[in-house]
Amino acid sequence: MAQNLQGKVALVTGASRGIGRATALALASEGAAVVVNYASSSSAATEVVAEIEAIGGSAVAFKANVANSDEVDQLIAATMEKFGRIDVLVNNAGITRDTLLLRMKLEDWQAVIDLNLTGVFLCTRAVSKIMLKQKSGRIINITSVAGQMGNAGQSNYSASKAGVIGFTKTVARELAPRAITVNAVAPGFIATDMTDGLKAEGILQMIPLARYGQPEEVAGMIQFLASSPAAAYITGQVFNVDGGMVMA
Ligand code: NAP
Repeated sequence: MAQNLQGKVALVTGASRGIGRATALALASEGAAVVVNYASSSSAATEVVAEIEAIGGSAVAFKANVANSDEVDQLIAATMEKFGRIDVLVNNAGITRDTLLLRMKLEDWQAVIDLNLTGVFLCTRAVSKIMLKQKSGRIINITSVAGQMGNAGQSNYSASKAGVIGFTKTVARELAPRAITVNAVAPGFIATDMTDGLKAEGILQMIPLARYGQPEEVAGMIQFLASSPAAAYITGQVFNVDGGMVMA
């Protein structure tokens, strides 16, 4: 199999679990050295690193809260010290704090915006400086169908994810002259810890394919955008991996 990311370095935020974990493994399978960022699950992150090493890959786990500007700077500095370059950034770390608008506390709003939107800004700003010097790079932001169609109980989350879409399109225009592409992937309902407590019954009725997606199915799209030579001509787009929930 062709290893399109041989010699490249990928930074995946929130890679200890779920979609980020599957993405780290998928990019490593293409030959990338991977930085497995996490917030608190150090043993899960260490396991992801071990799985990558087991397939002959190279990876390191770095703890950082990507909603915090100083910690993002430390994460990028540690990555550069270890691997010397960053070719792929996957802005994946995200949280939910669901409740209806009238019950939503400012802290629930702020926590979600701080990580899901400001975190994407902080990581992209820091990494784009490096990619601009390299005159190449792929940035993939994880948004959500909630940012496209709304979802009752998720005003904070859907606002953050809609923000990511606007951010993606603007930054794609700004970075295009240096051959850096910026795209977004919008998952629907994916079987991870994030969706674990949800009642599947009503949800499945909204999904034409009538099942939750697997993290590996989202990682496949991210892998394509990050590693395929054909993806070099794709920027500023949003790709849904949602079992047909959103058909534009
Ligand atoms: P998940 O299983 O809950 O995993 C979240 C990951 O983010 C974990 O690795 C976690 O690290 C990390 N994280 C949390 N807070 C962080 C912080 N402050 N700094 C750095 N990392 C942090 O989530 P998931 O379902 O895989 O979701 C991944 C992304 O896909 C999110 O952006 C989510 O909004 C989006 N998405 C998910 C779905 C879905 O149905 N699952 C649908 C649409 C979009 P720790 O393990 O250390 O806590």
